[in-house]
Amino acid sequence: DQGRAKAPVPTDRPAHVRRVLAVASGKGGVGKSTVSVNLACALAARGLRVGLLDADVYGPSAPTMLGISGKPAYEDGAMVPHEAWGLKAMSVGLLMKADDAMIWRGPMASQAITQMLTQTRWGTEDEPLDVLVVDLPPGTGDVQLTLIQKTPLDGAVIVSTPQEVALADARRAKTLFDRVNVPTLGLIENMSGDVFGRGGAEAEAARLGVDFLGDLPLDAALREGADAGVPVVAGDPDGDIAGRFSGLAEAL
Ligand code: ADP
Repeated sequence: DQGRAKAPVPTDRPAHVRRVLAVASGKGGVGKSTVSVNLACALAARGLRVGLLDADVYGPSAPTMLGISGKPAYEDGAMVPHEAWGLKAMSVGLLMKADDAMIWRGPMASQAITQMLTQTRWGTEDEPLDVLVVDLPPGTGDVQLTLIQKTPLDGAVIVSTPQEVALADARRAKTLFDRVNVPTLGLIENMSGDVFGRGGAEAEAARLGVDFLGDLPLDAALREGADAGVPVVAGDPDGDIAGRFSGLAEAL
């Protein structure tokens, strides 16, 4: 029963990582992974050492979005993350066969993610990671709950589209983080504009009592960059989209 879920203190903090930030969404397809990848690039552009952990067991997209492939190398008993676009990156998609993800149950998924968190060489004593961005699986079910209970998260941002249905899911995501005492740092509205409307997330953020961090337009370049393995923020650092992500990164 989720309502009675306790908030155990996670013991598995990754070594040499200063801050672990989750990117979550109440439902799939709202652009959570697109935001995770570009936000990570924007944080790196601010001079921070940044890692990206793609924990979306239902549809890991970091390999495609960052253009990385192949199992990570092992060195001295630790996994070596891929390096792409100034990020250190790991993805459940690199560790499992393409169709396995769908059938992973909560405990298996969270075990794999704990492993990637704690057994990856994210940083060293001399060069610790400033921030690790964790792209969570979408939704607010048992898999997500188990995961966020076990993951030492310092804060979460929630991505939503402007529609009422998506916002109701964002509300549930906030409730989930409240249950495990992870602060929700704010809401990001994605795909903002004519098709889905605009401003819904800002109004919802006010209702939830969390910060509204900013909005991102529906923009073909974001999808094309994701498909091509070149995050827009890295590929077009002076463009409008990069500017918006820079603003989001600053707010965190
Ligand atoms: P999620 O992680 O929430 O499932 P994705 O980040 O995978 O969503 O995005 C779903 C699809 O929508 C992808 O094809 C992505 O490229 C596209 N997409 C996401 N955000 C935008 C945007 N603001 N403008 C255009 N396409 C977008």
